[in-house]
Amino acid sequence: MNKIYNFSAGPAVLNQSVLKAMSEASIDYLGSGISLMEMSHRSELVMEMVSQTKILVRDLLSISNEYEVLFLQGGASLQFSMIPMNLLNENQVADYADTGAWSNKAIKEAENFGEVNVICSSKDSTYNHIPKELKQNLDSTYLHLTSNNTIYGTQWKNFPIPLNNDSYLIADMSSDIFSRSLDISKFGLIYAGAQKNIGPAGVTLVIIRKDILGKVNRIIPTMMNYQTHIEKDSMFNTPPVMAIYAVNRSLNWLDTIGGIEKMADINLRKAMKLYDEIERNSLFNSPIEESDRSLMNVPFIFSNKGNDNDFLSFCDKRGLKTLKGHRSVGGFRASIYNAMPEEGVDALVQAMKDYESI
Ligand SMILES: *Cc1c(COP(=O)(O)O)cnc(C)c1O
Repeated sequence: MNKIYNFSAGPAVLNQSVLKAMSEASIDYLGSGISLMEMSHRSELVMEMVSQTKILVRDLLSISNEYEVLFLQGGASLQFSMIPMNLLNENQVADYADTGAWSNKAIKEAENFGEVNVICSSKDSTYNHIPKELKQNLDSTYLHLTSNNTIYGTQWKNFPIPLNNDSYLIADMSSDIFSRSLDISKFGLIYAGAQKNIGPAGVTLVIIRKDILGKVNRIIPTMMNYQTHIEKDSMFNTPPVMAIYAVNRSLNWLDTIGGIEKMADINLRKAMKLYDEIERNSLFNSPIEESDRSLMNVPFIFSNKGNDNDFLSFCDKRGLKTLKGHRSVGGFRASIYNAMPEEGVDALVQAMKDYESI
């Protein structure tokens, strides 16, 4: 039997140690005799676990006390509306970069709450690059971008600086948080659904600078108000304890392998192996401009005509799973998040070579 490698874009691969810890915790959490799923979120064991998870987030990303770390529900998708609802008055404008499907969804939601200025868009070229020319509005309250475009496979390598000194960056980092070094101080808010790089679906990490809050005059529903979750330490209502524990174990694993800098080196090596093979192999092509290629989601297509399903089943037989491209792009997409071992990338590269020589 081949070892199975899951290249899914999300929910995505988790490290084996995380899965093992989850299976143990679901029967008997740390020798308590009861399952973590059955435990009160007010119990000492759970409070301790959640607080330790926050500390891991803070330590790994060197987050200062100006910021709060929150574990929320509703996915990254709920953040699309929570952000403008909490931060943008009706008569204010926010800058948004349109670099793919998720950016687009964020823009649509923001339009319900204030004015949106789309500073750039790569839509006309099927989102195959990150635009370099940005038309920022000088009065903009914040600048929102999607740091890694999961579907199209582009990634911001350098983040823009808002022109207005009072403005700040907001980033949807669902598919690349904890994959590379990050200077948190450039951002007012960062959010990420856990199910790409740090855990299962059900919990969304939000890192927010406290001083950006309290500036809108609309009424914000209690559950949608960041202040509620800050004051109640992410325990205003029952948090998704199992999902948070999976994040805890994933970050603990990341910590033990040497933290983000070490991970970033590994991620770069993995991605370069794959892109090099895409370039070398006569059968395949990357549809993405070289300088903007994602290190997390690697789309590729047949250079000439080829049978997508034939290559997918060739890979499937070798245990290389979920390589089908997103329906809006076609071809193939290998998501190689933190938890994808380098051997998984090696196995895919080998499959591409072998397929070429059939
Ligand atoms: C997957 C994804 C989302 C959607 O996340 P949900 O948790 O399903 O709401 C948003 N943004 C990006 C960049 C994603 O990859």
